[in-house]
Amino acid sequence: MGTSENKNYLNKRLLKLNVGFLLSEGPGNSREMPIDIPERVQVDEDLYLESVTGQLFLTRTKEGILAQGTLQVANIRECDRCLDEFVHTFDVPVEELFAHPANPQISVFSVDSTGQINLGPLVREEVLIEESYRVICREDCRGLSAASGVNLNHEAEPQPEDDGINADDLIDPRMAVLKQLLDDKK
Ligand SMILES: [Zn+2]
Repeated sequence: MGTSENKNYLNKRLLKLNVGFLLSEGPGNSREMPIDIPERVQVDEDLYLESVTGQLFLTRTKEGILAQGTLQVANIRECDRCLDEFVHTFDVPVEELFAHPANPQISVFSVDSTGQINLGPLVREEVLIEESYRVICREDCRGLSAASGVNLNHEAEPQPEDDGINADDLIDPRMAVLKQLLDDKK
């Protein structure tokens, strides 16, 4: 695996960008920075994402580094209809000033002492918002059977006379979740 020099600005284990080179240039200088992390990455202490890609435009200003652009983030979610886990990909818009030197009155974010900016906390906020919305694994997800609780994407409705199982025995805690979802829609 080659370590091409122009890719070294990106820390692929954490969502950090080295912007030291841009700091040493004067205000008004800018750089296009591709973000390419196609594998699992730790975004924050308690948050992992399956991939983070996109393009950021960094501008050196008097106050620090202005980061603008859009990231495509892949997060593991549970389908609200069938409860299966799946990878949900969505856009995270970025428009943030990283103060240099740190200045809480200008921005809660800043360039750290090693010349890096950490996109983690910023992405984390957007992911928490995304996680507050319901998502379904696919448009035609069939969900769980109201009668038996089986995932209708994977199997057909069991026929009681075929397997002899009492339908009441098949109701599991997931049914409560489904019922809640149905009730919410009313
Ligand atoms: Zn589903």
